[in-house]
Amino acid sequence: MTTENKTTKPTKAQALTAVKGMNDLIPPASAQWEWLEDKVRGLMARHAYRNLRTPIVEPTALFVRGLGEVTDIVEKEMYSFEDRLNGEQLTLRPEATAGVVRAVVEHNLLYDGGKRLYYMGPMFRHERPQRGRYRQFHQIGAEALGFPGAEVDAELILLAATLWQELGLQDVRLELNSLGQPDERAAHRAALIDHLEAHAEVLDEEAKRRLHSNPLRILDTKNPAMQAVVEAAPQLIDFLGEASLAHFNAVKAILDASGVAYRINPRLVRGMDYYNLTVFEFVTDRLGSQGTICGGGRYDYLIEQVGGKPAPAVGWALGVERVLELLKEQGTLPEAVGPDVYAIIPDAAALPVVFKTVQALRAQGMSVQMHAGTGEGMGSMKSQFKKADASGAQLALIFGGDELARGEVTLKALRDGVGAQEALPLAQVSSRVAATLARSAVHSQAAA
Ligand code: ATP
Ligand code: MG
Repeated sequence: MTTENKTTKPTKAQALTAVKGMNDLIPPASAQWEWLEDKVRGLMARHAYRNLRTPIVEPTALFVRGLGEVTDIVEKEMYSFEDRLNGEQLTLRPEATAGVVRAVVEHNLLYDGGKRLYYMGPMFRHERPQRGRYRQFHQIGAEALGFPGAEVDAELILLAATLWQELGLQDVRLELNSLGQPDERAAHRAALIDHLEAHAEVLDEEAKRRLHSNPLRILDTKNPAMQAVVEAAPQLIDFLGEASLAHFNAVKAILDASGVAYRINPRLVRGMDYYNLTVFEFVTDRLGSQGTICGGGRYDYLIEQVGGKPAPAVGWALGVERVLELLKEQGTLPEAVGPDVYAIIPDAAALPVVFKTVQALRAQGMSVQMHAGTGEGMGSMKSQFKKADASGAQLALIFGGDELARGEVTLKALRDGVGAQEALPLAQVSSRVAATLARSAVHSQAAA
């Protein structure tokens, strides 16, 4: 080390911040995410949907081929880059269906029949960040592959509707449409181009560019100046043949029989090219223009497009941030629950007994936070009680030296009946703590 290094004062480094539109998820809000994820896992298990996890990075070609070249996502929203080492073109996944299909084909998962799968995870789209719209956001999705029947479309829609119920989500409505089959879309497309050409003066630049490459996508426009023309456009539903209508009617019949309300929206086309037949969205008016919380539909040709043996499929994806935002807006997002017990440790000499005791409580399923000093020693009793209170714990266990010498600890209620305290023989701690928690209905295990 040179003298120079010794005397130079280290300069304080500039703090780095997260990338714009990409958020840290920190406590206590992270507990609300875990709550939602637990609800989803339970629900998926009860519907026999199994978890699938695919990489966050995929070959760019997967999305270009799968989602369609002339889509918002592929044209302007993808984070794509070249692998520095081998020159491969890669993309941070903007959605997960294409990756699910790639994985299903790659592992030949349909060899013994259809599969029902679900996933959760981050997606990446380069959009203008605003409430309900981020550059890293999170989706939970369900996909059923290998099943052609309308009953699976309906099962998936019911699955989502049940989730809203179990989360206590209100003011969500279901919009439904059928995109028919490719030949029906071709006939509609010709009529649509005629209509749009007749109103060329109101089309924006993007619509003009897409007029011949992807006119259906124009119906998905958010430009208010084009709404009237889009509303008057020929409707795909009038071009559907008998088989497509029968499929649509079968989906509707199951929803009707199940008491799930919906509205037919003939202009619902979704943002990706891979859909056919049933498409749907769950929307709310309470989140401004970010009102779609979940979208999905049938994609019977995607598996083939990604190189697999032709097989039908249907699925949906929900936006986790938007669902949580809606619950927050309603005021029904659950509060984070504190630990059951906070262990107060006046003197470090008690640590061996403390560890033995709290490990026994944890083994029984209780949540225990052990006090730990943040400076020298364990800290004063007063500061430990303050921490115990701030933790949200129901009970404090005080491992004082005098009591321990008698083979006892002190149990103190921190919430209801604050102040009530009693000395307990160490051997009875587990049973007494469990009984006390069971009496106060807010025991975290019971509340979950
Ligand atoms: P929008 O029309 O709002 O852009 P989208 O049609 O692009 O949505 P999908 O690709 O269908 O959305 O994705 C399914 C769900 O994922 C959406 O309904 C929404 O809840 C959520 N989502 C999509 N993009 C974002 C984003 N940038 N930030 C947060 N959530 C998003
Ligand atoms: Mg979008």
